[in-house]
Amino acid sequence: MPAAIERIVIVGGGTAGWMAAALIARVLGDQVRTTLVESEEIGIIGVGEATIPPIQHVNATLGIDEAAFLRETKATIKLAIRFDDWGAPGESYFHTFGAAGRGIAFCPFHHFWHRARAEGIDAHYWDFDLNYLCARAGRFAPIQSGDPAWSLPYAYHFDSSLYGQFLRRYSEARGVTRVEGMVSAVERDGERGDVTSLVLRDGRRVEGDLFVDCSGARGLLIQQQLNVGYEDWGHWLPCDRAIAVPSERFAETAPYTQSIARTAGWQWRIPLQHRNGNGLVYSSRHLSDDQAAALLLDNIGSPALADPRVIRFRTGRARRQWHHNVVAVGLSSGFLEPLESTSIYLIQSAIVRLLHFFPTAGGLDPLMVAEYNRHSQVEYETVRDFIILHYHATRRDDSAFWRDLRDMVVPERLAAKIALFRAGGVLTQDPLDIFLEPSWVQVLLGQGIVPAARHPLADGVDARQLAEQLRELAAAKREPLAKMPRHDDFLRACGGIA
Ligand code: FAD
Repeated sequence: MPAAIERIVIVGGGTAGWMAAALIARVLGDQVRTTLVESEEIGIIGVGEATIPPIQHVNATLGIDEAAFLRETKATIKLAIRFDDWGAPGESYFHTFGAAGRGIAFCPFHHFWHRARAEGIDAHYWDFDLNYLCARAGRFAPIQSGDPAWSLPYAYHFDSSLYGQFLRRYSEARGVTRVEGMVSAVERDGERGDVTSLVLRDGRRVEGDLFVDCSGARGLLIQQQLNVGYEDWGHWLPCDRAIAVPSERFAETAPYTQSIARTAGWQWRIPLQHRNGNGLVYSSRHLSDDQAAALLLDNIGSPALADPRVIRFRTGRARRQWHHNVVAVGLSSGFLEPLESTSIYLIQSAIVRLLHFFPTAGGLDPLMVAEYNRHSQVEYETVRDFIILHYHATRRDDSAFWRDLRDMVVPERLAAKIALFRAGGVLTQDPLDIFLEPSWVQVLLGQGIVPAARHPLADGVDARQLAEQLRELAAAKREPLAKMPRHDDFLRACGGIA
């Protein structure tokens, strides 16, 4: 292998492949030659439709115009996820991308809120969260304000096939070469074991110095060639299938994803401009495919536009996500169910990490590779723990599925996190955890975990003053709403919705 990386080969043209191509083309420009190989015969998984706010960094780095992006990918705005029936049947809460209240040094807002409740002040935690207020009112417009009380972080729901095509056009316009063909063999350096070229079914060869494996769950290079192994997390996250079906759009487009707990899994509803995306994530030990299809079709709320499609998956991660000269990105690197819409983010994060640790002219550095793998592992594990929290922190008792998850032994880091919060409302932040304190607090409180004690600073405030401050804060949070258009009107102003 030459010392410097001059030729990058990406295998796979799903979201992972085209996002890798676009970011590499944008950041490394003509310092490298990038080729993407994909097979239309295999196709893409095509179900990743909900994102989280860091997607804004991808768009900003690529220099994408938001209105064009919304039009071309049939995207809508996502301010939050609404969780129905998770804590207990009939309950509902939002995990928003915002933060309730106003930052107060040393003492997070929820301590003051708990104190207010103890004083008999009737206040709903989410009424202090602008994302929640806008989501519930179905309103949206970007806010440019220096006042953190008015911060309104948002992400998108988009059509994943259109998103792939959008990134493909972007990448090809910046010099990425697309090769259509089926990889049928892989050649490796006999001495070092590095991958040297892909051989296509028609005999063509694609040579490279660094290979980005975006081949989906099969892990064409990272698993089938390099056999890095797979860490299975099915004992914590037993859902192993999803059934997906598109349906007609509702008259009004909600600016949030809906996640509804069901007897052996959960249902998603994702509003796009031209249709709704629906699916049921379930455990095949507790529900048959036919039962899952019937449950989903009974609950989509509008006519189906296609037959339901079953997708099998295995929750876990590749034991090494970078090995030799192969970096696994996307489903080849692992899978976590889409409960918090994290997979596309994990793709983004893997590519950004690759660009951060990109081999210098001296070639691959084992120290860099090891550090890349350490970051990837911790990032995957912290997302995993956040997802497990949703299943574990439940009072549902209506099926063996929920009882098992409620009673299971969770990973140590998560158990410690819950215990600390339960005791005194305290949370510790892992630097590689993408979910910050406001997210953890919303899910913990939303699913009924209430701290036994609060911070002394919250108890030191005069109760009448606290009531007054909360009234003012709620009014300040509501203020932008009056001027904000309806979500659908915002999309129309961008040229969207037919
Ligand atoms: P794929 O889309 O499977 O692409 C694989 C590519 O490799 C294809 O182009 C294929 O042709 C190519 N390929 C494979 N083998 C060969 C070969 N031999 N020769 C040539 N080409 C080959 N993520 C989110 O962030 N939000 C969500 O809401 C969300 N929802 C999901 C719902 C479900 C049910 C599932 C299963 C996943 C969901 N995800 C979600 C995850 C998301 O779909 C994936 O992370 C994303 O689509 C990336 O997939 P990929 O590009 O890695 O793989």
